[in-house]
Amino acid sequence: MDISDRMAEVEPVRLGLDSKFKFECHKGVKCFTKCCRGINIILTPYDIIRLKNRLQLSSEEFLAIYTEPQLLEKTDLPVVALKLMDDDIQSCPFVTDDGCIIYEDRPTTCRYYPLGVASLSHKEGVDSDGFYFFVHEPHCLGFEEEKEWTVREWRNDQGVDIHDDINAGWTDLVVRKRSFPPNLKLVEESKKMFFLVSYNIDKFRQFVFESSFLDRYNIDDETVERIRKDEIALLDFGFKWLKDVLFKEGSFQLK
Ligand code: SF4
Ligand code: SF4
Repeated sequence: MDISDRMAEVEPVRLGLDSKFKFECHKGVKCFTKCCRGINIILTPYDIIRLKNRLQLSSEEFLAIYTEPQLLEKTDLPVVALKLMDDDIQSCPFVTDDGCIIYEDRPTTCRYYPLGVASLSHKEGVDSDGFYFFVHEPHCLGFEEEKEWTVREWRNDQGVDIHDDINAGWTDLVVRKRSFPPNLKLVEESKKMFFLVSYNIDKFRQFVFESSFLDRYNIDDETVERIRKDEIALLDFGFKWLKDVLFKEGSFQLK
């Protein structure tokens, strides 16, 4: 997704799932880990859950240590990006000369790279299916390798499907907000709730179970039990609730 918004020269090629490209990234390439420096990686809600669990931190601790706030262009929505190190080359906090130390839990953008996904970039004419394009940074030599992929194969190989499935409700919210006229602004409280659900799942859990939330809304017992035990279910519940908060859909019934 150019959730990454990587500071890159972006090739204006619109790719579909069956589009082909040649690319390979491995330790032997001369540019190994160059793409992990000087970057802007916007994190998705599921990225935060994977990373905070991997690092055994609360979502609040993870946000404080590893992220910095940004506004997602053309949406006015608050998002977070990975906070880079304060070294000369602005390294990602997880990169070493041997590669990524959290590779199995790397963010969605790192999985897609060298592809970007238009649904979360600033591309015009994006519908909810989105499309793909190359984030073609001049230092990346992976395009000189011989291995050929379709976009579908690359997604499968990099394990992005599960990320995209879990983030689907969030992507919908972002795409929908982007389609609004720029003068239609969200109130601060709505933006705060968007941030809470999207990035601070532990605090959102507290909000649901330790405030008057469950007294105010008609939520069936089965759902309450599910979201109590399963943070992915809680996240999805949060996206549905945000639809009400942001777009007044009225699907959450007040008691
Ligand atoms: S710059 Fe490209 S080829 Fe080099 S390590 Fe990064 S993704 Fe791999
Ligand atoms: S999270 Fe891993 S793959 Fe992504 S930029 Fe950092 S070191 Fe590279």
